[in-house]
Amino acid sequence: MTVADSHLAAELDAESWRSMPAAQQPDWPDPVGLRRVVDELRAAPPLVFPSECDRLRSRLAVVARGGGFLLQGGDCAETFDGVSPAQVRAKLRTLAQMALVIGYACAAPVVKVGRIAGQYSKPRSSPTETRDGRTLPSYRGDSVNGPEFGEQARTPDPERLLRMYHSSMATLNVLRAFGGGGRSDLRRVHGWNEEFVSASPSGKHYQRLWEEIGAALGFMRSLGAAPETVGETEFFTSHEALVLEYESALTHGGGRPGEAYDLSGHMVWIGERTRRIDGAHVEFASRIRNPIGIKLSAAAEPDEVLALIDKLDPHREPGRLTLITRMGAQRVRAELPALVEKVTAAGAPVVWVCDPMHGNTFEAANGYKTRRFDDVLDELRGFLEVHRALGTHPGGVHLELTGDDVTECLGGGDDIGPDDLPERYRTACDPRLNRSQALDLAFRLAEMYRG
Ligand code: PEP
Ligand code: MN
Repeated sequence: MTVADSHLAAELDAESWRSMPAAQQPDWPDPVGLRRVVDELRAAPPLVFPSECDRLRSRLAVVARGGGFLLQGGDCAETFDGVSPAQVRAKLRTLAQMALVIGYACAAPVVKVGRIAGQYSKPRSSPTETRDGRTLPSYRGDSVNGPEFGEQARTPDPERLLRMYHSSMATLNVLRAFGGGGRSDLRRVHGWNEEFVSASPSGKHYQRLWEEIGAALGFMRSLGAAPETVGETEFFTSHEALVLEYESALTHGGGRPGEAYDLSGHMVWIGERTRRIDGAHVEFASRIRNPIGIKLSAAAEPDEVLALIDKLDPHREPGRLTLITRMGAQRVRAELPALVEKVTAAGAPVVWVCDPMHGNTFEAANGYKTRRFDDVLDELRGFLEVHRALGTHPGGVHLELTGDDVTECLGGGDDIGPDDLPERYRTACDPRLNRSQALDLAFRLAEMYRG
């Protein structure tokens, strides 16, 4: 077999999901249009490269072994309108600031993975939405349809998959420029943290920790240590691999013979609603070499999770699988231990990550979907307690956040109340931590990891 043949064979292999039930797929009204878009995507340049996916896997392997931390975060749903350099940079800046603080406290490398450059598709609890007696398809993310409540906007349009590809590419371009060339030099990042520490009501509490970090950076400089990592920030991309026509169109042979990579992003995850062992999403993920995440609610049975591990990581390769638990502050202490024990006993070297957002969502009296900052912190605390008690590594966090000053989650330093939510509630889907809440959370996490 030639190299080209082997790449083709790997791509064909990655189409096996087509014979399995695929949950949460749009009802495309125009199969011919969809085919044309898929062909165009298949012929388009990849967004990321196999070697980058491999590098992320090796970084995550360090986390799986207990020697690092995964910080994964970004919008619940990216939007085409949100692809402005300012907004993308604000998100990356926030992630870099958080990573510096967390990395100092853990004395370990922080792997920074955005929910970015591809997070355009949303699973929905209901396929339709009814307003004033009128029923239309639910909004499934900018990759599928529009959020406006109208017949035309809500009809899935395959051309949107092309726009998703181009928006992801534009975002990646900003990300690569921001990460390199000294734009996110650690001393600069430290300076941005000063703004938070001196200006925000909760920031003052962290003055000491901020000063310690400054002293550590100064010490490094005095030693003449200016390793590349001081001037460059390594960011990776991730999104939920939901719309399988898109993901498989960007899947290509690469690396070694018989191996395929989903080159729409570095890491992809399978959501709580699409993780059926015999479903198309798990089948698709089993055929690609990217690092894979799996979201797990409190309803996940340990045996079900073991079956997922056997299918997705049969060789027990550290860095391949990240289990993202999102059980809710109320349940994490009761439900997480049994899961961690069984997975550990099965010899699976997974990265354990806490998503403290999705198990803590509720509707405020005024109808806004929201989350309490204190619940988010409490789930994180529970996650840490459980892993510490079991001697496993609490490897990271998965957050919905933005670099902008939105009013979507309650509490935090500015003490956002229900009446403040309408002020700047901008999310296309779930409520995100704003910039100050995200930084506040990073300092709190730092204290938890040190204490
Ligand atoms: C999400 O991450 O936005 C999401 C829908 O999560 P989950 O699959 O955990 O519900
Ligand atoms: Mn979400």
